[in-house]
Amino acid sequence: MIYDHILVRYGEITLKTRNRKMFINALRQNMKRALADFDVELNAHWDRAYITLGDEAPGAVMDALENVNGILSVSPVAKLERSEAAMKDTAVHFANGFGEGDTFKIEVKRADKSYHLKTFDIQQMLGGYVLDNVPKLEVDVKHPEHQIMVEVRIDGIYMYHEVRQCIGGLPIGTGGRALLMLSGGIDSPVAGLEVMKKGVEIEAIHFHSPPYTSPQATEKVKQLVDIMSKRTGADIKLHIVPFTELQTKIYDWIPDNMSMTTTRRIMLIIAERLAKQVDAKAIVNGENLGQVASQTLASMHAINAVTNFPVLRPLLTLEKNEIVAMARNYGTYETSVLPYEDCCTIFKPKSPKTKPVVEKVEKFESKVDFEPMIEKALAGIECYSVNDAEEKEAFRSLL
Ligand code: ATP
Ligand code: MG
Repeated sequence: MIYDHILVRYGEITLKTRNRKMFINALRQNMKRALADFDVELNAHWDRAYITLGDEAPGAVMDALENVNGILSVSPVAKLERSEAAMKDTAVHFANGFGEGDTFKIEVKRADKSYHLKTFDIQQMLGGYVLDNVPKLEVDVKHPEHQIMVEVRIDGIYMYHEVRQCIGGLPIGTGGRALLMLSGGIDSPVAGLEVMKKGVEIEAIHFHSPPYTSPQATEKVKQLVDIMSKRTGADIKLHIVPFTELQTKIYDWIPDNMSMTTTRRIMLIIAERLAKQVDAKAIVNGENLGQVASQTLASMHAINAVTNFPVLRPLLTLEKNEIVAMARNYGTYETSVLPYEDCCTIFKPKSPKTKPVVEKVEKFESKVDFEPMIEKALAGIECYSVNDAEEKEAFRSLL
């Protein structure tokens, strides 16, 4: 095997100066977790990390790193002794794998300025050698199809030509914690994953209303949490709130066209209280401006009036097809479109108001004492995480 290392390039971490150490430490931990099944050595430096592969396959190790937030790209690297012969052999080995008529360029970085060959000398030497030995190729220094990278360092010469793009962003855990309102739909898992990309750790809250919502609907949300956890390497905790009593009370007391607004308001009240309990600094949802009646500006205004807590809406202005493409890319789409209904679909009003007025909603809500039911719902929360394997198996059989 020619490759013995993986080079890891950092994403936005490189923009940090004073607190970069904290970001690198978090990334090191997250990479370690992602690589737990591999027998490799990880060295995370100030500007990049190297993974020493030992007997592990570079492809599998890169697969494991691809979705670790904070990594911009990875490359399989051959570390060579500092000799001209070793560089030439490796360059030809890479070049043999390129296609007929492809163009290439030799790119040299001389981190060790004391090396006896200068950048230009190495370029000339390797370029000429490759052309002589792999005549199917041509040189193009402006827009090459392949770049053979040569880094001259004190401890050896590092060569590579493949660059695999990764997810980028910041390491999870460096941006504090947020509470994601997770329905079984397409949008909210994507919203959560987008926020996680910025280094924010997520806990999730889901409202269910058995028996009006099926066990399969709850299981679907758990599966989404599994997918999101596996994807990010984070162990996302899901809080499942029993919402039946509140939902039926709303149905009985609030006029049909305003029931959606009240439902969302009460969900938000509960989410805020849980957020405070788990030390989350914001609530995240999958709202998208104008998508449905509950997501017009007037609706968001009426719903949001119950809280001063920051509510993040990472999908606010995206097109639905963009969100679907993101969901497919994240691997949540197939689960999201399973046909089990969540509580709001079942209690869906026939013609919800697109412009609810806060004062009117408040007037109807004031006729009911929701507070004891809210307390009860909070007290009845059940928790789930990807590690709850036994319980998961039990639910799997329901699908
Ligand atoms: P999604 O695809 O995320 O379900 P949606 O387009 O279907 O979104 P709504 O059903 O109006 O939109 O919900 C808007 C947002 O409210 C959701 O993105 C989610 O964050 C939150 N939400 C809705 N229902 C629930 C629920 N049962 N539990 C937790 N959060 C919910
Ligand atoms: Mg929904």
